[in-house]
Amino acid sequence: MNFTHEKPFIAGNWKMFKTVPEAVEMVQKLHEASLGLEKAQFVVVPPFTALYEVSRALQGSPVQVGAQNMYWEEQGAFTGEVSAPMLKDIGCIYVVIGHSERRQYFGETNETVNNKIKAALNHGLVPIMCIGESLEERENGNTITKVQSQIIEGLKGLEAEKVRQIIIAYEPIWAIGTGLTATPDQAQEVHRFIRSNLAEKHGNDVASCAIILYGGSVKPENSYSLLKEKDINGALVGGASLKAESFAEIAKKAIKAYEEK
Ligand code: PEP
Repeated sequence: MNFTHEKPFIAGNWKMFKTVPEAVEMVQKLHEASLGLEKAQFVVVPPFTALYEVSRALQGSPVQVGAQNMYWEEQGAFTGEVSAPMLKDIGCIYVVIGHSERRQYFGETNETVNNKIKAALNHGLVPIMCIGESLEERENGNTITKVQSQIIEGLKGLEAEKVRQIIIAYEPIWAIGTGLTATPDQAQEVHRFIRSNLAEKHGNDVASCAIILYGGSVKPENSYSLLKEKDINGALVGGASLKAESFAEIAKKAIKAYEEK
């Protein structure tokens, strides 16, 4: 297993930002910062173009690497796509699947998410499956229903042993890149539901050690209070992961929160 729920798990999704030299400079700084922060698990998720160099630059570092997406076939005539074995080949350990931006702009559905998760697991990658409701769904009282259907359909056909190898990121769409954050109570309510759903469908053992991340405008100012919540095991960070200082600061606060839980 590449991850543990004993330490906060802090992943930085760089989206479509950073050239290769910028990415390498960033991870060199992050590697230095991470050496004083061994009580957190760090993952960077650069754009495809920087993955290989970032992965090389991080060889021997506790900072791990993930990709932002993948296709479920191993190889073939799928122009523009990248497969799980290709990501493994360049040192990726994780892959983000079903980010709300992929669902919103690139037509991803629970079904494609499910196909990708299965392919990632078959090739030894750890999927970070993103789920979350829109503002309209929250205002209409449909948050739990939405999240429930995303979990059930996204994990369809997977045995408990496979589900154990998946990380779930709850990311309310209205909080991504907007500066709006779910309150710790709002986030905890959904995280608690996710854990209880995992327990019901896949057993207490899977649920109790599942890593459930929160994502949506996480920054140094709010990471402590979010990570203090019982069922929040880490953060998927967008904007604030683009600078090593703020990313490391989030991890520092997360460590403090974890120690005090
Ligand atoms: C994300 O991209 O997953 C994200 C949560 O972004 P931000 O932290 O910028 O809201």
